[in-house]
Amino acid sequence: MSLEKTLVILKPSAIQRGLVGEVTRRFERKGLRIAGMKMMQLTDELLNKHYAHLADKPFFQRVKNSMMASPVIVCCYEGVDAVQVVRNMTGSTNGRMAVPGTIRGDFSVSGQENIIHTSDSHDNAIEEINRFFKPEELFDYKQSVLPFLYNNDEYL
Ligand code: ADP
Repeated sequence: MSLEKTLVILKPSAIQRGLVGEVTRRFERKGLRIAGMKMMQLTDELLNKHYAHLADKPFFQRVKNSMMASPVIVCCYEGVDAVQVVRNMTGSTNGRMAVPGTIRGDFSVSGQENIIHTSDSHDNAIEEINRFFKPEELFDYKQSVLPFLYNNDEYL
């Protein structure tokens, strides 16, 4: 086991509904380290890459428009098994089906307006972090609370 990074995007639905603090608080309290965080306006070009796996879906353009409706906040979190931990906290894609207690389960009633994007695999996380962050925008500081978050076998 070792530390890994994952990408989270606070979508326009989070920004507009004032959920930035609530969602960020959950990851913070879980014990994930913030490696990077910034506000940006997504573009059609960036979203064509980010959502390439949806290109043949009838809702592709609508989803992209939804992601461009306001700036977003992109976040890079780090922790042991961070991709899976964050996916578990995210809940399933459709907020109506997402289990209560998850972010989508608690704050979304929509298949599209579902508050956050989170990387779904280790390899995709690496690709997405590189897509949204420049190397100098990621910070490698030590999280001093680490020995109280994990047994040291878990993160070394
Ligand atoms: P996830 O975000 O859970 O990883 P996907 O990668 O399949 O899910 O889809 C990306 C995003 O596209 C979803 O988060 C959601 O905003 C939107 N989306 C997916 N499926 C639908 C759908 N059937 N109708 C409308 N929007 C959808």
